[in-house]
Amino acid sequence: MPPDIVGLLKLQERDLRLGELRKELARIPREQEQAQSRLANNQQAVSTSKTALQENEVAIKNVELDIGTRRETISRLKKQQFETRKNTEYQALGTEVVRYAGDIDALETKELELMEKADERRKVLTKAETALASTKAGVDEEVAILTKRTENFTKEAGILEIERKDLLVGLEEDQLSIYERLLKQRGAPVVVQITSERQCSGCHVKATPATMVKVFNGHELVNCENCGRILYPQ
Ligand SMILES: [Zn+2]
Repeated sequence: MPPDIVGLLKLQERDLRLGELRKELARIPREQEQAQSRLANNQQAVSTSKTALQENEVAIKNVELDIGTRRETISRLKKQQFETRKNTEYQALGTEVVRYAGDIDALETKELELMEKADERRKVLTKAETALASTKAGVDEEVAILTKRTENFTKEAGILEIERKDLLVGLEEDQLSIYERLLKQRGAPVVVQITSERQCSGCHVKATPATMVKVFNGHELVNCENCGRILYPQ
């Protein structure tokens, strides 16, 4: 049976493209995951900045509460001072008032520091939010492109599979099984030219003159003696 090189080459053309498409389709989910993880890093930065800002707000509230308590204490002490008739007690209460006023001064300084810190943290948060928005836009676009690519590749692979099935009908079973076996072993291409210098285009090893003659006669399917690929003349 003469080899149906044209038929095998047509089949191989589909298999080459199918091989490429399958590789791409296997890679796309990983690319999508990588894009999503870039987004996750930005989201984490925003959430960390938010927490830091909230903690600072709580600290400010606590300082304000402490100031309020001390102010109440001072007004209570002043009232006691007003009511007392003992001079020593009056003086002792006055000392207390001064002490609490000193506390308030220190707390107000602390509150100012915390407010400055809040400004800084707000800036950090804004920066993180801006970075997140820009990454999100990029990632959304990338994911959309990859999703579209998956659709297109899947569609193309489906068409190729159908074409492949149709091509199989016309091919001789023995030749087909040799082709399939080689494809599994070596991957496409497995139907390769033999050059005028008798070189196999698959493995680049020089074939014997007898092999060259058999290829040119075209009576049978000839395999490269070195790599086993199916040879066809230039
Ligand atoms: Zn070879």
